[in-house]
Amino acid sequence: MITASPGARITSPALADWRQLWRDAITDGRELLDLLQLSHLADRLPAADAGFALRVPRGFAARMRRGDAHDPLLLQVLPQLAELDRVPGFAEDAVGDMAAREAQGVLHKYQGRALLIASGSCAINCRYCFRRHFPYGDEMAAAGQWRHALEHVRQDTSITELILSGGDPLSLATSKLEELSQGLADLPHVTRLRIHTRLPVVLPERIDGPFVEWLRSLPHQKVVVIHANHANEFDADVDAACTRLRDAGATLLNQSVLLRGINDDADALIALSERLFAAGVLPYYLHQLDRVQGAAHFEVDDARAQSLMTSMRGQLPGYLVPKLVREVGGDPSKRAL
Ligand SMILES: *Cc1c(COP(=O)(O)O)cnc(C)c1O
Ligand code: SF4
Repeated sequence: MITASPGARITSPALADWRQLWRDAITDGRELLDLLQLSHLADRLPAADAGFALRVPRGFAARMRRGDAHDPLLLQVLPQLAELDRVPGFAEDAVGDMAAREAQGVLHKYQGRALLIASGSCAINCRYCFRRHFPYGDEMAAAGQWRHALEHVRQDTSITELILSGGDPLSLATSKLEELSQGLADLPHVTRLRIHTRLPVVLPERIDGPFVEWLRSLPHQKVVVIHANHANEFDADVDAACTRLRDAGATLLNQSVLLRGINDDADALIALSERLFAAGVLPYYLHQLDRVQGAAHFEVDDARAQSLMTSMRGQLPGYLVPKLVREVGGDPSKRAL
């Protein structure tokens, strides 16, 4: 069964239409706080949203604990007054994306891998995200510009892996993804397709029959990197979406961001790794926060991050310990800490 909205259950075995669920997302902070029996916090919402609106699918909100102002899912999406602070060292383009731009919608920073900004949209707005400042209007490869981006990939035969990212590439209609894969058909040097998406976690209904068929039909090796920061983000619907992705032939990995007050304790990180594995997903990266304006209050210092890694290594099998990394503009790879 799929939760469509609090209190309403869809009894049909078919998945609810993901576009409808997308449109039904909560966009009003007061509504979210009322739903969580936290109405008394409404006067702490910033008057302005710093240009990045609250947005959270109802199914994700349903996994938040009622009456808990420190819920780790709520804290990822609730605008805070601290976002308005201007903190030295925090920038608008924290990871040098503008410098790595090679063609419209293509970021080519690392050997062998090109990243396509396939869409600027996300089903959820994560407060810590670099996306809050990125000029997606100009950079989206999907705005009828596959050709431009794919032409770049065609001319550089060192590119063996194409990464679809954004925003969230699975915000695109499956018919758009089909157009993309048709464009890939005559690029034989691209053998791997990687998709970076938070949708299997925040709107698992997106992993519907037509999408799974599309994924299965691709001749490439397929990697899907999901994005969960806390074990509580998983429920039976997320598990089922992960199963569908694996059945379509994808290897599933997870990347997380280390976030103060959300997952910066050893028990939370260990529980996340265990929960990921239960869903058939291996932990890949644990990112140190990109230093974007408005996200400083989420930062965890490197010494603490390293001590959390030591705790994880002491209690988990090696394959459930993610790599702690930071993205540094101009580096030839993510920087291991
Ligand atoms: C993070 C990133 C990648 C992928 O790096 P991996 O270490 O292979 O996961 C590729 N391109 C860009 C521009 C990136 O930011
Ligand atoms: S790009 Fe990822 S982290 Fe950023 S808002 Fe979208 S889903 Fe959240």
